[in-house]
Amino acid sequence: MKLYSKYFRKYKVPFLVAILCVTLEAFCDLLGPTLMAHIINNGIEKANLPRVYYWGILMLVITMIGACFAVVRNNLASSVSQRMGADLRADLFEKIISFSEVNVDKIESGSLITRMTNDTSQIILFINGIMRIFIKAPIIGIGSVILATMLNIRLSLIIYGVVAVVTILIFISMKLSYPRFYRLQKAMDLVNSKIQEYLIGVRLVKAFGTYRSERDKFDEANKNFMRIGISSQMVITVISPILTLVVGIGTISIIYIGSRLFEGNQANAGDITAFTIYMAQILFSLIMITNVFNMFVRTKASTARIQEIIDCEEDYAKSKNNRKLSGKISFDHVTFAYPNGGGLPAIQELTFEVNDGESLAIIGPTGSGKSTIVWLLLRFYDADTGSILLDDYDLKTLGVDEIRNNIAIVPQKPILFSGSVAENLRWGDKNASEKELNLVLKKSQADFVNQMQEGYDSHLGSGGVNLSGGQKQRISIARGILKKSSVLILDDATSALDAVTEAKVQENLKNRLDKQTIITITQRCGTAMFADKILVMENGWKVGFGSHRELMENCEVYQDIYRTQIESVKGA
Ligand code: ADP
Repeated sequence: MKLYSKYFRKYKVPFLVAILCVTLEAFCDLLGPTLMAHIINNGIEKANLPRVYYWGILMLVITMIGACFAVVRNNLASSVSQRMGADLRADLFEKIISFSEVNVDKIESGSLITRMTNDTSQIILFINGIMRIFIKAPIIGIGSVILATMLNIRLSLIIYGVVAVVTILIFISMKLSYPRFYRLQKAMDLVNSKIQEYLIGVRLVKAFGTYRSERDKFDEANKNFMRIGISSQMVITVISPILTLVVGIGTISIIYIGSRLFEGNQANAGDITAFTIYMAQILFSLIMITNVFNMFVRTKASTARIQEIIDCEEDYAKSKNNRKLSGKISFDHVTFAYPNGGGLPAIQELTFEVNDGESLAIIGPTGSGKSTIVWLLLRFYDADTGSILLDDYDLKTLGVDEIRNNIAIVPQKPILFSGSVAENLRWGDKNASEKELNLVLKKSQADFVNQMQEGYDSHLGSGGVNLSGGQKQRISIARGILKKSSVLILDDATSALDAVTEAKVQENLKNRLDKQTIITITQRCGTAMFADKILVMENGWKVGFGSHRELMENCEVYQDIYRTQIESVKGA
């Protein structure tokens, strides 16, 4: 409930008005059977037409007033619940974009989508329900019991019995439903994750022809969802008819015992009619209450899942400073293991230093920890031990925005958004002039943009689908250069370029006018060898550090890489 108090406070007035309306509406509904009893007992039985008119018109007026309250509360319930839902979604979205990377790893995006859509819809339904049946059902239920007792105490004993049995049934149903609904939501996450995984890797699936295995994986998740869905419905499908049966037996008992009492002049025909209507109303309210509990159970599960997002750690603190740093980097005995990586460190005891304006290449096989160095530098994660300094400031003392404003990254897989080339480039600098755009396109060997029909105003499909891998990489590099940051990181960013183009891009970066520290992550010796310093990584350990010449003298691993990549090519 703590989660929702903020929203309830915001919409307090319409919420309370809706509750008042539904309460008054329930009272109007409750009066119906008693008025009916009066019509029969005082009017029909005594053949008194004016009395029939009197009670009849009163009944009509009260029903109309009830209907007016119903219209108001229906409108308020819809608008308040939808508004609260929109606020909740907006807050969740805000939270998700401020997530620290640890949470991005922890909660799969498929699950985040289910929580943002399905779980919030469940909560909207529940809030809507509070302003409608949740208040009305108990009032009708309790009111019917009280009014029936006032009409005839002996007949009411049947109602008490029915209520006791039904309460136990509801309790059992709730106990059985909760874990099932919780599992249902989890199963839905899995289905969503599978679809998402497929969509992300659709080209790979097509290329490898692994449709069958993808379909099998989806089938498994889908069937699991179906099984849990059936089992969660089973509780309701069994309990609901039992409830109806119990109430049916109660109604028959009322008619049977009522007719015996009627014979002995201990009950009126009107009372017995009113009793059967109250019994029907109690049935309605009990079924509604079961639905309320089911909904409550689902909402509790959804709330727990939403609370998990709200409780997630946010990204590290931002700062008010926005200094332009020079780009000197030093790692001092840094060890880091991913929180979900099974405890095995991705980086161990790493120490190295790069001066501002220098270029550093990090080379090593996949999984050796190259990208992790970059994520730590961008402070997506904090080192477990040791310290990382940027311009002699410990990263932990800098705000994440300050760090990231000073670093540009060109990722391994270029990420482009639907929009024009210029829009994509201006992510680097939103005020960049056309001249600057042309310059960075030239530097990154992306002149092909000028040959496109509308130059850099040409539209890129979502993810840059209408470009080749190499073209995307070059635009992505141009965007990185345009940021004019103190540090530029190229994470295997030239892997799709041919050797000649790559050499040209490297050359252009080397001849830049602005002093910039450049970190190039690569598996290719041909790319690394031109950097001022080379860091050689293997299994999370530094196995070499120095210039190409130094490493060729003292680093066996580097010599091996050189031999296998360069000399074997030369020899061929
Ligand atoms: P490289 O860039 O050299 O290919 P990485 O730095 O990406 O290597 O990975 C180093 C190690 O950390 C690998 O064993 C990898 O499986 C693990 N790793 C990388 N990213 C994550 C992550 N988000 N969660 C858990 N483990 C990870």
